[in-house]
Amino acid sequence: MKELSIYVHIPFCERKCNYCAFVSYCTGEKEQNDYIDDLCKEIEKRKCDGVVRTIYIGGGTPSILTPQQIEKVVKAIYDNFDVYDNAEFTIEANPNSITQELLLTWKKLRVNRLSIGVQSLKDKSLQKIGRLHTKNEALEKIKLARKCFDNVSADLIVGLENENGKDLCRYAGQLLELGVKHISCYLLEVYENTKLFKDVCEKKYFPLSDDQTVSAFNKLANYLQDKGMERYEISNFAYPDYESKHNLNYWARGEYLGFGMSAHSFDGKNRTANADSFEDYKSGKTFQENLTVTEELEEIIMLGLRCKLGVQKDKLQSLGFDITQNVYYDDYIKQGIIQEKDDTIYLNHVFYHLSNTIIANLLP
Ligand code: SF4
Repeated sequence: MKELSIYVHIPFCERKCNYCAFVSYCTGEKEQNDYIDDLCKEIEKRKCDGVVRTIYIGGGTPSILTPQQIEKVVKAIYDNFDVYDNAEFTIEANPNSITQELLLTWKKLRVNRLSIGVQSLKDKSLQKIGRLHTKNEALEKIKLARKCFDNVSADLIVGLENENGKDLCRYAGQLLELGVKHISCYLLEVYENTKLFKDVCEKKYFPLSDDQTVSAFNKLANYLQDKGMERYEISNFAYPDYESKHNLNYWARGEYLGFGMSAHSFDGKNRTANADSFEDYKSGKTFQENLTVTEELEEIIMLGLRCKLGVQKDKLQSLGFDITQNVYYDDYIKQGIIQEKDDTIYLNHVFYHLSNTIIANLLP
């Protein structure tokens, strides 16, 4: 029986953060209820054979759904799919919308992993990027969440104005003290059409420079590894056994089904995306992406080298590409940038900060 992962997209937020380019909207309860109905219909319609290893409810802000709304979505999944008893089940949450009632509801629904959008632990920074929570609220809600859930992850952003590596290490230390088991560290991206882009253009906001960002990230990465976390992917750190199985499945190019607006699905060969507007999603519009062999090879190399899974040379060879013939390959092996173990090659994590160039050089 094949194994698969399920992703569910909840495109609602209380307020748009200044840096956000995700598919998320601030709507009323009626629109949310209509969407939940459509989502449940989609889940039912696309029921298929296979056993679900991981479920991930992301967004947007899934934690703004009421207990009744989230119960409906989870029921649709369990009514239509076989799910392993020990499946990893993650829900994304923002500190300001976490309540004791929601935590207990999630627990009852078999959620066993929380991913909390902390982003920073400095009030001025949080305010400047348009987050709705304060530092104290984030810490209080993590404390509350940890009473119900062992497996709690937190997101931090690297590159915010006036936040150097030392600040980030201090935040990480506070999170680890509260028992957070996994930290995702994202680089601040300033996308066009965001409020942050406007603020940067108008010189009202000053993100760190590229060099400052790399230096802050490296400091944070070293700190987390010194604390016993493994950097199992370029941006992700976890204590042993607390890696996100859901994300590892993406990076291994395992099959997944994505439900909801803008969600992607992958059948092991091709990818399908749902439409990213309410109207088109309701009408069932999807986009098919058929990968060429070169695109497939690029994806295998990029995803594998960015994480601890590495890349199997045999797999590349079966698609007609011998990576050992690449002009940079021998040099990278000699310098320890690329490491070989049996049939698999890995990017030495000491060189993760140069991954873009290294990976680009190794592509077919
Ligand atoms: S909470 Fe997340 S998805 Fe929602 S606006 Fe902020 S960054 Fe975007």
